[in-house]
Amino acid sequence: MIGTATAARVEIPVDEVEVRAYTIPTDAPEADGTLAWDATTIVVVHARGGGESGLGYTYADVSTAKLIASKLAGVVRGRDATAPQSAWSAMVEQTRNLGRPGITSMAIAAVDTALWDLKARALGLPLCRLLGMARDRVAVYGSGGFTAYSPQRLAAQLAGWVQDGIPRVKMKVGSAPDEDPERVRLAREAIGPEARLFVDANGAYSRKQALELAGRFAQDARVSWFEEPVSSDDLEGLRLLRDQAPAGVEIAAGEYGYDAPYFKRMLDAGAVDVLQADVTRCGGITELLRVDALCRAHNLPLSLHCGPSIHLHPATALANFVHLEYFHDHVRIEHMLFDGVVDPVAGALEPDLERPGNGLELKRGEAERYAA
Ligand SMILES: [Mg+2]
Repeated sequence: MIGTATAARVEIPVDEVEVRAYTIPTDAPEADGTLAWDATTIVVVHARGGGESGLGYTYADVSTAKLIASKLAGVVRGRDATAPQSAWSAMVEQTRNLGRPGITSMAIAAVDTALWDLKARALGLPLCRLLGMARDRVAVYGSGGFTAYSPQRLAAQLAGWVQDGIPRVKMKVGSAPDEDPERVRLAREAIGPEARLFVDANGAYSRKQALELAGRFAQDARVSWFEEPVSSDDLEGLRLLRDQAPAGVEIAAGEYGYDAPYFKRMLDAGAVDVLQADVTRCGGITELLRVDALCRAHNLPLSLHCGPSIHLHPATALANFVHLEYFHDHVRIEHMLFDGVVDPVAGALEPDLERPGNGLELKRGEAERYAA
């Protein structure tokens, strides 16, 4: 039966799976083309075994923590910490009737990333070494530029990343389509002529509207990346944009991919120039490695979505990796809650090879102030 996997014997049993959720208010009102928010919840998992503790997390609703405690912790306990793939298959089987996409997949992701981290720590290795490094450094792009920002705040944030040596930045569009060309021109002015400028509509535009704006963004501001110009569920619409937008504009989508078949459908439809995936949504490192294999087979680049600290180590191992989203909200939260967060140097993150696992430790005292 496909999906059933049983480890021959247990090397290091998982003793305990602990889950906590923390809700952190944003530092200003935030919005994109289709959503507004004022707080972000992170669900943090510790998996313990062999005297070590592995840490994983997802950005999800607090109900995800409840699901991990009620459905997944018992499945994983007693399993072999050196075989995260076995635990992954067992978690997928256990949640069959709940539906895989959405919070089920985010719950699996948080546990899976904790188990990979536990394995690395149990073997005394940085996680990137355990996974096998295809590169030492992971290119990032600065990401924020929320539609709720004033023009001044937008310009200052994007220009700040470029001044800090990150030569790629992304802004949100789509809340007020008539104002977007001017806002995008302003962003180009702020970052100067050299840096790459990305826009993300979060599916806010219609097909024809997106096509027209792709032309204007390219001509007026040399935008080179148009993310979710239309809904990522409209694969034909994405394909239309990919075929008809100016050649210098890459069409990207995939952040709502929760399982390998989703990414296969998107790639088979020829919907994107660059596939995006999020390890905290797609089912963890176990499934992310398979998404990379799909990109390899389709000869397309893979860009990673948000959560820079949890993506850093897996990103070093992916054959088709191109860049990682250095998302304002998550950068802020990861610095607040974790020790061991690394900062970009010359537009890239580099794993600290002196620290075991993913290098992260939860600052429990600080985190408890935000307990959800
Ligand atoms: Mg996006």
